[in-house]
Amino acid sequence: MKRPEVKAKLSGDNNWRRRPSHAARAAEYAKEQSIARTGAGNPRWGGGRIVARHGYIKKSIGGSKYDFEHRCVMEEHLGRPLREDEIIHHINRDRQDNRIENLQIVNRSEHVAYHNREYAKRGGNRRAKR
Ligand SMILES: [Zn+2]
Repeated sequence: MKRPEVKAKLSGDNNWRRRPSHAARAAEYAKEQSIARTGAGNPRWGGGRIVARHGYIKKSIGGSKYDFEHRCVMEEHLGRPLREDEIIHHINRDRQDNRIENLQIVNRSEHVAYHNREYAKRGGNRRAKR
């Protein structure tokens, strides 16, 4: 006996089973995303770096988190996390030059002094600007 209705239902059901389920697709997507994230963490990968405000480079530290590259470079150099009061000064004033030779740890007042000295060198006067 032919029971087309049931057959159609069964084949439909089979098709549904053969297609990747929503969950499987989501898992695959998540896997791709995590590969992308791993790529961003790979130093040889060109991406994962953005130019932040004031011209500083920020680099991806996983997911959508970014941290200042010059601070990361110094932390790696020191082998410890930087304290909040430790400021990384770019010796040649190029904020995108994050070579360790160009980075110097200063405290807040030293940093202000460095930059004030520069203003003075240029013959400028900060107060005059206001
Ligand atoms: Zn500086």
